[in-house]
Amino acid sequence: MKIVIIGGVAGGATAAARLRRLNEKAQIVIFERTGFISYANCGLPYFIGDEITDKEELTLQPPQSFKRRFNVDVNVFCEVTKITPEEKTVTVKNLQSGEVFIESYDKLILSPGAKPNIPEFLKGERVFTLRTVEDTFSIKEYINRMSVKTAVILGGGFIGLEMAENLVNLGVKTTILQRGNQLLNILDRDMASFIHSKLRSMGVKLIFNAKALAYNEEYLSGEGFLPIKADMVIVAAGVSPENSLAKDAGLALGEKGAIKVNEYMQTSVEDIYAVGDAVEIKNFVTEKGGLIPLAGPANKQGRIAADNICGIKSAYKGSLGSCVIKLFNMTAAATGINENAAEKLGLKYEKVILSLLSHAGYYPGAKVMTLKVLYQKETLKILGAQAVGYEGVDKRIDVLATAIYSGLFADKLKELDLAYAPPYSSAKDPVNMAGFIIDNIENGLVKQFYYEDIPALREREDITLLDTRTLREYEKGHAEGFIHIPVDELRFRLKELPENKPVYVMCQSGLRSYIAARILMENGYDAYNFAGGYRLFSSIFNDELAAENAFNCGLEK
Ligand code: FAD
Repeated sequence: MKIVIIGGVAGGATAAARLRRLNEKAQIVIFERTGFISYANCGLPYFIGDEITDKEELTLQPPQSFKRRFNVDVNVFCEVTKITPEEKTVTVKNLQSGEVFIESYDKLILSPGAKPNIPEFLKGERVFTLRTVEDTFSIKEYINRMSVKTAVILGGGFIGLEMAENLVNLGVKTTILQRGNQLLNILDRDMASFIHSKLRSMGVKLIFNAKALAYNEEYLSGEGFLPIKADMVIVAAGVSPENSLAKDAGLALGEKGAIKVNEYMQTSVEDIYAVGDAVEIKNFVTEKGGLIPLAGPANKQGRIAADNICGIKSAYKGSLGSCVIKLFNMTAAATGINENAAEKLGLKYEKVILSLLSHAGYYPGAKVMTLKVLYQKETLKILGAQAVGYEGVDKRIDVLATAIYSGLFADKLKELDLAYAPPYSSAKDPVNMAGFIIDNIENGLVKQFYYEDIPALREREDITLLDTRTLREYEKGHAEGFIHIPVDELRFRLKELPENKPVYVMCQSGLRSYIAARILMENGYDAYNFAGGYRLFSSIFNDELAAENAFNCGLEK
């Protein structure tokens, strides 16, 4: 059996290695357009920022060692220009020698990845995209040669933000232009606010609702911003599936031109498989087709394609889009869908937002994280989760991703038996805490309100807005319109609150306000707890950098 693989990085190299492990006799041939295979795309921004300094660290497996270990014929600088399914051949151009040749296959795996979206007008020697090792070296070389002092990044997704961090680390004054009103659209606006204030605190200029329209080698201009002069422009405005070969060969295409595959990674044409960023995959939560261009899915799909070619029935069940990003000392992570996606699908959902410590407060170094969990109201199916913080964020999102994958209901999060010792967590882990809140909501013990409700609530005279933090906390900053009674005085000062008016309660994290809401409810009040606390409120409304450290429930020292 002869298997040809187009693209030798995440999906392609994984498929090749698995094929060899399953079949020692097969002939396996990789064609890769660039000069590198199996390289660490995800590490590229960190080479630019000098976090990774050894070039060889990026190129995980040079062609020679791949050949030695897996006996795979690796052809770099070889671009496949045509697939002819009727003849079961591919046409290949050697980009160094210019030679064109035909190669036959019994099975073909496409893993050509995705290409960066670049607006037509954005061309020039100062304009860069980051996708390959070659892109990385040319960005790095340009920064050094031209002593780049200023940069504009078009797009505030993962690559844009990682580039921003790495450019700042090199002392480059960086501006991010973003089309909508938030960065990192995988998060909801409330959670993204933490990212905004972090980046601003590190000197990154953020310009929202900006649409770049023209570039003249010096100035980038457009709607929503004044023309910007920068030494370099990085285009990180999303990617599109590399589909031209598939399209020309008549393979069925789906969403945004991605290659359609079944769960065995088979395309619409016999003996052709496709994996990675180029394919349309099922969103595990919504069960709808979509694009999730991430390394985890690409690697797993490469393995699955190899399994099926070798007679092992393996299926890809879909992707949750679980992702994580480091931004300076902050981490943001998400899995499943966010509110925007849930709304678009017309799902009736509930959300909980908690600000908690990464580990026991009494053990040094605990940092605050904000965790948001979304679940479907009728079914209690967990739809997604997002977390932003400084420590243990990835762990909580991974637990929640596992919970979603295994169909755990939201109220069962309280039952998860998670590892605990003071340096790592609390006896009630943040994931358990989310479960407790969900349980309380579902049992009618607590009702919530959210940041988006606040402007309308402020207009109402038939309610009381109450802040239950300490006087010092309140004086440092509070939401306009909220009167102040510390939770510990509430029982004795109930008379100050009109009985016939619902009370909307806020504290720093949501815990003291929950206690206050319970006191109020037990005393006959209709009470609502603010999800996320003043910490979230001030991040959203005041663009305030949320504190990393917290004292347990206002016990300030
Ligand atoms: P790729 O790994 O991109 O490989 C495709 C290869 O096919 C390319 O090398 C291309 O040259 C080659 N090719 C294309 N067409 C042809 C042709 N006609 N002939 C021959 N060769 C061809 N994902 C994460 O999950 N976490 C991260 O932290 C993360 N960080 C990233 C950072 C950067 C800078 C980039 C660019 C991506 C990052 N990703 C990350 C995404 C991840 O790298 C991709 O999802 C993954 O590599 C996709 O695998 P793939 O095999 O589909 O495509």
